[in-house]
Amino acid sequence: MSATPLVSPVNSPIPDTTTLTPLLGASVAELTAWVQQQGQPAYRGKQLHDWIYHKGVRSLADISVFPKQWRATVADVPIGRSQIHYRAVAPDGTVKYLLQLADGQIVETVGIPTDKRLTVCVSTQVGCPMACDFCATGKGGYKRNLGRHEIVDQVLTVQEDFQQRVSHVVFMGMGEPLLNTENVLAAIKCLNQDVGIGQRSLTVSTVGIRDRIRQLAEEHLQVTLAVSLHAPNQALREQIIPSAHPYPIEDLLTECREYVAITGRRISFEYILLAGVNDLPEHALELAKRLRGFQSHVNLIPYNPIQEVDYKRPNRDRIQAFVTVLKQQNIAVSVRYSRGLEADAACGQLRTSQKSQG
Ligand code: SAH
Repeated sequence: MSATPLVSPVNSPIPDTTTLTPLLGASVAELTAWVQQQGQPAYRGKQLHDWIYHKGVRSLADISVFPKQWRATVADVPIGRSQIHYRAVAPDGTVKYLLQLADGQIVETVGIPTDKRLTVCVSTQVGCPMACDFCATGKGGYKRNLGRHEIVDQVLTVQEDFQQRVSHVVFMGMGEPLLNTENVLAAIKCLNQDVGIGQRSLTVSTVGIRDRIRQLAEEHLQVTLAVSLHAPNQALREQIIPSAHPYPIEDLLTECREYVAITGRRISFEYILLAGVNDLPEHALELAKRLRGFQSHVNLIPYNPIQEVDYKRPNRDRIQAFVTVLKQQNIAVSVRYSRGLEADAACGQLRTSQKSQG
């Protein structure tokens, strides 16, 4: 990969920090090119990489192996780490963080410990423009895309807080990842190559944006794709996901089939269960018909309550009946009981609020 300069050449000893790209997210090659551009020997690139990704340094001024004088010169070059603004632990050990970004915006991240795993649920946007009817994030509107450093930072923050290596990352926090494809792809590359998480341990979840699933397939990644389907037909899908209107379910599933053909990876379909809306046995049968012959897996997510709407979570018998129909139709299925409910950290509950303070 060609090493693009991270900063415009600095002529004055005091860099203009407003034009600087944060260093977090950069590869060893990029960091090496940058230190050389600063008149430093190439091996300092590897040192810098180690301090950013493994020692969690937040300011170049703190890198003790660097010459004092140079440290003072580049002290204002941003590394791109956030501040923990709020932290809440749910009884099941799930930790929700509100992270404050350089411009003051807040995003939410969730750390989910299970057995030997530590999964991080990362946000890709501040807010979300998709406005799914059942999701708290969409109710708060949309502010902006996150940069690659702001996505990677969430993983490092959870890793440092738990003092445990993150094993899995799911792009299922606030925002629609495929509306921020460039930064999401850059973050995936960094998490894989610089943080050291296997591609198969990364999952990108999308509600479906025309042509973007195909675009992702053409990257030939080994990441898992999760598609938030939530309904077996277009009419019902549009009712709960208004943004699905211009992108018929047939077109979405055609792109999903192409994804499977190109990558050889099966797709995980997420299906929220809303009592009396999309959870009837006939919906399960219709879903099974749609997915017949498809290399896929259905992940049922019983609805987690949010304030603004009065959907209900189906009871266990209804959920089990839905599972039974899918199994009878030979569809691979599992139920995801979200964790972190008590900290407002479960699927769909992410918003930039602190439960204890309203
Ligand atoms: N925009 C992406 C990433 C968000 S992932 C996407 O839609 O896939 C968050 C997952 O939680 C999605 O499957 C979403 O549909 C689901 N979800 C949203 N609100 C929920 C709620 N109230 N209860 C349960 N799941 C919810």
